[in-house]
Amino acid sequence: MPSEKDTDSVQVAVRIRPLIDSEINRGCRDILEVLPALHQIRIKDSDRAFTFNHVCDSSMSQNTFYDVCVKHIIANLFKGYNVTILAYGQTGSGKTYSMGTAYDSSSDIGIIPRAVNDIFNYANDNFAYDFHISVSFMELYQEMLYDLLTSKSREQSVVEIREDSKGSIIIPGLTTETVTSSAQALDMLLKGSKGRVTGSTNMNTQSSRSHAIFTINILMQQKSDSNMNKSAKFYLVDLAGSERSKKTGATGVAFREGININKGLLALGNVISVLGGDKQQSYVSFRDSNLTRLLKDSLGGNSITLMIACVSPADYNLEETVSTLRYADRAR
Ligand code: ADP
Ligand code: MG
Repeated sequence: MPSEKDTDSVQVAVRIRPLIDSEINRGCRDILEVLPALHQIRIKDSDRAFTFNHVCDSSMSQNTFYDVCVKHIIANLFKGYNVTILAYGQTGSGKTYSMGTAYDSSSDIGIIPRAVNDIFNYANDNFAYDFHISVSFMELYQEMLYDLLTSKSREQSVVEIREDSKGSIIIPGLTTETVTSSAQALDMLLKGSKGRVTGSTNMNTQSSRSHAIFTINILMQQKSDSNMNKSAKFYLVDLAGSERSKKTGATGVAFREGININKGLLALGNVISVLGGDKQQSYVSFRDSNLTRLLKDSLGGNSITLMIACVSPADYNLEETVSTLRYADRAR
């Protein structure tokens, strides 16, 4: 058994991004209000309020956001806990910005590069263990799982989710790159993010219709006794846009994408609400989607989950914002 984790199994943070130019040009109003002392977010001129572990307003920097919501979780990996961080929200709400999935060292970096740096700093400062760190990068699109780090063609990069006899999730054939520095790990992030599928709907030209899953595997072997080892899996998930296909005006393939995406997000919401302690439901059904099958050994239980609900402050997006806050509220 790993030593005690120092944090709740399921945590929820909401992050409000600033109004973007297109919203300002449209004359949008900011309808969100944060009450920091109460950890509350309110819809102005209404009686709707939601309480989360962290409520981050639009002025919060990437650095502070990481320090407040993520940094304290990293140490748990080295105790042997699996950790999953998920960014949820409609397209354009700040998921990729917050996660740092589309890595670019010249911009204000998000969670993944900061976490990678912290992990290597921790490993380099710890002399009692040998560390073996590896990364993989997958994309889940229309219930199909793709290896983003393989040199194979798109059709041949499909991988399957399996479970071993101990209940651990394994992906046979998935490219797992050993990395010995944060620069090497971030090269893999960059390499994989170039291969992601993006679609275009009238919500956002760079709309992301798939889930991007960056994984960091940590194996620790005690130097004085190589039989003593611990391992942890760290999933960093940039989820597909949560907007309903109705609003995006999508038809045909795009509409079908919407349905499949909602299947994963729906199943994830159900799983997390049970793990977060929903008394009305007790059966956790991981089998309902490939997203939840994949994350099965890394959600709740002996692991730590942080859900980041990303929202736009604009009145124009009110409906989707309330829907995101409700989704996140079930996870608490
Ligand atoms: P998503 O991945 O949810 O579709 P993005 O992360 O691409 O959304 O964000 C949409 C736009 O808003 C991008 O131009 C991004 O740089 C900007 N943005 C998002 N969150 C913030 C933030 N907290 N501060 C500043 N700009 C942000
Ligand atoms: Mg995105």
